[in-house]
Amino acid sequence: VEADGLYVIYRERDLETVALRGAEIALPEGTWTSLMGPSGSGKSTLVHVLGGLLEPSGGRVVIDGEDITRLPPAERAQRRRRRIGMVLQRDNLHPLLDVGDNIALPLRLDGRPAPHIRSRVRELLDSLGLSDRARQPVGQLSGGEAQRVAIAVALAARPTVLLADEITGELDARTATGVLDILARVRDDEGAAILTVTHNPSVTERADLRLRMRDGIVIE
Ligand code: ADP
Ligand code: ADP
Repeated sequence: VEADGLYVIYRERDLETVALRGAEIALPEGTWTSLMGPSGSGKSTLVHVLGGLLEPSGGRVVIDGEDITRLPPAERAQRRRRRIGMVLQRDNLHPLLDVGDNIALPLRLDGRPAPHIRSRVRELLDSLGLSDRARQPVGQLSGGEAQRVAIAVALAARPTVLLADEITGELDARTATGVLDILARVRDDEGAAILTVTHNPSVTERADLRLRMRDGIVIE
């Protein structure tokens, strides 16, 4: 992923906030990058833009050589499903579906054949230590389990980019270490580019590259 010149301006009544002012970032494949910075410096906004959830008013995001910024919304959504996995602060699990169906959902939306979906869901459940949770409603999971399911959903389509915003915030130290081990495995086994946004030094110390944001740009 390469992005440069990113501008995002939020407008609320007569208040304007420039959340990104020319931000630039590159996430190399097979590399884990950590992004830190004070609250309000634009980290979440940058993650949303990189993930194609938010269209910047300036700049571009290039993924695997393709500029996704100006694609029509339907095509941008399709690229996002295939190439980008996102784990956000409030994870986006579907409360009415069980664990297995949550993981299957992005693959169904992408039109993958049922046998492929079944085996991929099984593989993810096994590798994330959720084998006995397939039919459990997600509302009954512990915090650490729900976080692992959110990661499984993000990884289902084998994305080349995994974006994770403060994912260890509410986990105890041991559970958080388990989640970070999963990210390291995805980097090493699948060659994914990983971005973690965090205030937590024990997350940052696992990363290969450490970046910092201030006032809407990546400064170091
Ligand atoms: P961080 O993740 O570093 O805390 P954010 O990207 O959430 O930073 O926010 C950057 C700036 O944009 C902040 O000033 C924040 O108040 C503002 N902001 C974020 N989201 C919105 C929104 N939906 N509407 C208006 N302002 C927003
Ligand atoms: P944590 O220590 O992470 O907060 P919890 O006490 O929430 O863990 O959960 C412990 C175990 O109990 C987990 O395996 C979870 O799946 C299960 N569990 C939690 N809430 C419910 C529930 N309402 N019904 C059934 N099982 C539950």
